[in-house]
Amino acid sequence: MQNPYLPYPVRIDEITTETEDKNLKTFKLVFINPEDEEKFNYQAGQFAELSVAGKGEIPIGIASSPTEKGFLMFTVNKVGLVTSYLHNMKAGDIMGVRGPLGNWYPLGYHGRQEYCHHRRRVCFYDTSVLHYIYAGSCQPTKI
Ligand SMILES: Cc1cc2nc3c(=O)[nH]c(=O)nc-3n(C[C@H](O)[C@H](O)[C@H](O)COP(=O)(O)OP(=O)(O)OC[C@H]3O[C@@H](n4cnc5c(N)ncnc54)[C@H](O)[C@@H]3O)c2cc1C
Repeated sequence: MQNPYLPYPVRIDEITTETEDKNLKTFKLVFINPEDEEKFNYQAGQFAELSVAGKGEIPIGIASSPTEKGFLMFTVNKVGLVTSYLHNMKAGDIMGVRGPLGNWYPLGYHGRQEYCHHRRRVCFYDTSVLHYIYAGSCQPTKI
């Protein structure tokens, strides 16, 4: 069994600056060992611990959808020590991802309708959930 405290090594593939003040960035991460992607079997709504060597670990919602293969995405607001260090990292740098952790949304057909109907504001997890919903054959009718 995989030790749940050991992070999977990942490479930063791409960094997107999301806001004019540059305090919000999305990190696209690729597993260094392709077999680790199989083990990191996540659901929309879960989070992971991002680890930056020598700085620490931070819980961040998974912004990519399980239907998107070959990478993970995380949108990170710069607030303190680890997030500031992460914001200074570059494409090609190596870091760690531990998880997936936490619960997920029940997204059967009725779950999707409920989710879209009741969600009042978009947060980072929602990009994962919305990508997942729109990748499905059966789309919600109420948004
Ligand atoms: C389950 C979960 C999911 C999350 N998902 C996301 C996500 O998707 N995206 C995201 O951006 N965040 C997310 N967060 C929040 C994120 O984990 C924290 O913002 C992150 O851990 C902060 O780490 P840090 O080392 O940068 O901040 P720290 O250095 O630990 O600082 C923590 C807080 O203290 C404040 N602080 C730090 N230093 C000072 C100082 N000198 N003076 C005054 N205040 C100070 C910071 O503003 C910050 O609010 C999530 C949290 C949880 C629990």
